[in-house]
Amino acid sequence: MRESIECTEWGLYTKPAFRLLREDSEHPVLLVCEHASRFIPDALNELGLDETAAQEHIAWDIGALALAERLSETLGATLLSANYSRLLIDLNRPLHVADSIPAQSEIYQVPGNQSLDDATREYRQQCLFHPFHDQLRALIDQRLGENRTVRVVGIHSFTPVFYGQPRALEAGVLYGEARDYAQRIVDGLGRHSLRAAGNQPYKVSPLSDMTVPVHGDGRGLDSVLIEVRNDQLRSPESVQTWSAYLAPLL
Ligand SMILES: [Zn+2]
Repeated sequence: MRESIECTEWGLYTKPAFRLLREDSEHPVLLVCEHASRFIPDALNELGLDETAAQEHIAWDIGALALAERLSETLGATLLSANYSRLLIDLNRPLHVADSIPAQSEIYQVPGNQSLDDATREYRQQCLFHPFHDQLRALIDQRLGENRTVRVVGIHSFTPVFYGQPRALEAGVLYGEARDYAQRIVDGLGRHSLRAAGNQPYKVSPLSDMTVPVHGDGRGLDSVLIEVRNDQLRSPESVQTWSAYLAPLL
């Protein structure tokens, strides 16, 4: 594994890149939460963002970890979640795309990500990105090696207002190859009279996503990314409600 001594020696990324819950689960669903955390090490001074901006959804997906944890508990399924903010490096973006380390997120400039040198970029890749994806790959390898079914499910949230526009959609099921699996989830949410749709409010693409195209579609596994509008995930009760909607559908 690549989480090596250099990550802690520089004193920046002293905790592991990820957290793993219920690693030995035999449930086919493998839950992934890439935008779980807004944690940025103190030494990086919130990347120069003021605190309100840093706590906004640009640093993380509000409520996504709570929902993923509840689903993990309900299903007894493994959950891999990030321990660092996506503003340091976005774990659901390929390394070669411009916003892998975003210099701007929506209306916010991210001062601490402007004109980074290659060494800093590589350091974030080595300490944050590779350990997470190596672990995800290893979990899938192990299960496939035991001839088990694996379904890779990313848990995310989106903002109720985007560039000033309110969004009516309550949940999106994003997919590439796994159209039938995604449709079953959309239909299931529809039976609760929820406003859910496939490939909204975003689409997955190998040019902008990692988890679904690389670990799911790329390995022939059913894989979706679930997006829940974050105003629906603001209390333990509402998180529980969404977990109850989703758990039987995954
Ligand atoms: Zn997200």
